[in-house]
Amino acid sequence: MIYLENLTKKYSDKTLALDDINLEISRGEFVTIVGHSGAGKTTMLKMITAEEAPSLGKVFFESTNVHDLRKGDVPKYRRKIGVVFQDNRLIPNKTAYENIAFAMEAAGRSDHEIVADVPEILKLVGLDNKLWNFPHELSGGERQRVSIARAVINQPELIIADEPTGNLDPINTFDVINLFKKINEMGTTVLLTTHNKGVVDLIGNRVVTVEKGKIIRDDKDGKYVL
Ligand code: ADP
Repeated sequence: MIYLENLTKKYSDKTLALDDINLEISRGEFVTIVGHSGAGKTTMLKMITAEEAPSLGKVFFESTNVHDLRKGDVPKYRRKIGVVFQDNRLIPNKTAYENIAFAMEAAGRSDHEIVADVPEILKLVGLDNKLWNFPHELSGGERQRVSIARAVINQPELIIADEPTGNLDPINTFDVINLFKKINEMGTTVLLTTHNKGVVDLIGNRVVTVEKGKIIRDDKDGKYVL
């Protein structure tokens, strides 16, 4: 599904963030990218979402050469991907319901679909009693569950989650990781970064270890060796 081919990224200040990365991710996988802060994890994700361009190498999403897309085709490509950030990035003056409805409107979904789907997705993430709460009226874990609901509402093919549990306590981390597992079991490919060994142990699938811009391990059985 995703192929990173000889991917190298040197930022304008000469920082070598990725150094000749090769990685293949199949549809349906749950892949965890682990590595210390500064290892290159976020840069790798930004190459897939076309937020940053490679210095050398290619990114393929199926047969699409992502960095060859015309500017006008990038938004359509990005709709294949749902993104979850460490800091959730919810709109503060919109309720949980409205945050998700907004993402549906942006994707051109009808009012009818919005009314039907938003309560259902909030139920899936265990927040059917918090539809009308604003982000500041939710706990950190609840806010992150709303942002996950928002990421999956338009049925993306891939979920990218950059340190999604970085701001959460262990109990909320457990709930959020289980939610990603459930989403993966329902058929969506998940690519998640973390530097937390406990998170890797909870997921227990394929673990790719990045260090200084290089992939130093690729384990099928969830090992964390940093
Ligand atoms: P991680 O997500 O593993 O913490 P990053 O991909 O954010 O790592 O960063 C990899 C390296 O690239 C680090 O040395 C970081 O300082 C550098 N870096 C990240 N973004 C930029 C940027 N926009 N400009 C210059 N250097 C950057």
